[in-house]
Amino acid sequence: MGRYTGPACKICRRLGMKLFLKGDRCYMAKCAIEQGKAAPGQHGARRSKLSDYGTQLREKQRLRKMFGMQEAQFRVFFERAQRARGVTGEKLLQSLELRLDNLVYRLGFAPSRRAARQMVNHGHIAVNGHKTSIASRVLKSGDKVQVRDQEQARAYAGKFMDNAEARGLVKWLALDKGNFEGAVLHVPSREEIAPEVSEQLIVELYSK
Ligand code: SF4
Repeated sequence: MGRYTGPACKICRRLGMKLFLKGDRCYMAKCAIEQGKAAPGQHGARRSKLSDYGTQLREKQRLRKMFGMQEAQFRVFFERAQRARGVTGEKLLQSLELRLDNLVYRLGFAPSRRAARQMVNHGHIAVNGHKTSIASRVLKSGDKVQVRDQEQARAYAGKFMDNAEARGLVKWLALDKGNFEGAVLHVPSREEIAPEVSEQLIVELYSK
């Protein structure tokens, strides 16, 4: 199946949760979820009770869509988390948070994960001083992410950094605004990871 290119807010409405797909608008009262808009479609306002499977599936879709991933790639991340030592759900969330595109977004260099992915794909980001174009790359503690010294890229990032900073930077990242550079201070613990999803439901879904 191809990538969904329709209105982003529809995805949030369908899944009943803010997925932060549209940048600054997601933090405003204009957000469709903040306005209490029902799921799209003729029967969107009707709330039917989900089965256990439906609940697990919705939880997985929420997390997958939040990070803008295709099913196959999300599955790869899950399988890696399963093989890693520790709690699978927590490992999954940690590896998603440490994806390069997510870090570019969290550091405020881009308004959304989608825009962050584009910045990486277009070669505007360096990791530990080296240009990279792999948005799905998972970073580790101590790694540094920088907007490359390109006038256009830094001007673009500069437009969003203040808003992101005003919303508050997560504690496991450090930002050096002047150098357009951020660092991973440590791998975030579950408590430090924002998505309000129940990762256990996702583990149950894939363990069937
Ligand atoms: Fe739209 Fe709100 Fe979802 Fe952002 S969080 S994409 S504004 S519904």
